[in-house]
Amino acid sequence: MPRPRTLVSVAVSGLLLAGCATQADGKSRAQPGASAAPTATNEATAGATPPASSAAVSPASVMANELGEVPVLMYHQIKENPKGDYDQTPAEFRAELERLYSEDYRPVTAAGLVVGNIDIPAGKHPVVLTFDDGTTSEAKIGADGSPTPDTALGILEAVGKEHPDFRPTASFYVNDHPFVDDKVLPWLVAHGYEVAVHTMTHANLKQLSDTGVQKELAGNYAKIQAAVPGYKITTMALPYGVFPRNRDLAHQGTDGTTAYDLAGVMLVGANPSPSPYAASFKPLAIPRIRSGPGEVPLDSAYWLDQLKAHPDSRYTSDGNPAKVSFPAASAGKLSSTFTDKAQQY
Ligand SMILES: [Zn+2]
Repeated sequence: MPRPRTLVSVAVSGLLLAGCATQADGKSRAQPGASAAPTATNEATAGATPPASSAAVSPASVMANELGEVPVLMYHQIKENPKGDYDQTPAEFRAELERLYSEDYRPVTAAGLVVGNIDIPAGKHPVVLTFDDGTTSEAKIGADGSPTPDTALGILEAVGKEHPDFRPTASFYVNDHPFVDDKVLPWLVAHGYEVAVHTMTHANLKQLSDTGVQKELAGNYAKIQAAVPGYKITTMALPYGVFPRNRDLAHQGTDGTTAYDLAGVMLVGANPSPSPYAASFKPLAIPRIRSGPGEVPLDSAYWLDQLKAHPDSRYTSDGNPAKVSFPAASAGKLSSTFTDKAQQY
């Protein structure tokens, strides 16, 4: 029985501003038992994927287009009987993962996107899965040290086990006290996921002074660093998609104790991201698509349909991270930063 949803009367402008309306419920308890015995990994590991096929293929044979668009999907709570349009049932989430797999998408992290580290097999398309707010429905670690199956993380891991060529990874944007469980962040980093900044208190940054903005960012950054020592934090997601009045403070600043310098800033809404190798890519303003079944404008079902109907616009990998391959017709999109890696056909 589908729950009622707000239908297409939701304006796009509302989508742009309405993200992350809910907070962690704060009711769940930390699971007792074994720790994940994590090993902190560095940025390169967090953004990496298993080596693509070692056999070189010609870019034309897979219609490689590494200047095409990349969907960056935004999720919130994943639970039965969700309360709002930003939340989904486990069945809806699993169905979207199965769709992504069957349409040849392969997950990469937001950090991987920002630094241009997209190592997936030839002919596959990158997708970035992002989860906001660090809620217990997104991730919990059970007594056996593994993600609990009913969480988004558990479902993503299960889909990865069912499809060994679908490496599960995602980016988790957390506030202070994420997941109400100290084991989750170390587990995520140890298993190649990204954890990143979403401010200490889920603040509307536009309403704060410069000092207040930096306190929110630096404090959250320091908490993540303390939870995962040695881990390099690369990106942040703006609560509500709202920039501070001084936009630069969204990615760079200090509270006097902790300095932060982030390479990527994630928005809320409402279209695919340009390729990181395209001149139009703006790492400090990366659009995200709200996950949904097509009942509100510009959600993931809409955009996945669009990208399927217009495959020329979609990023397709050449399977070779050392090269940026694209058809000649797309050459004008190339960022001059990547001229030396360009492989036009
Ligand atoms: Zn949020």
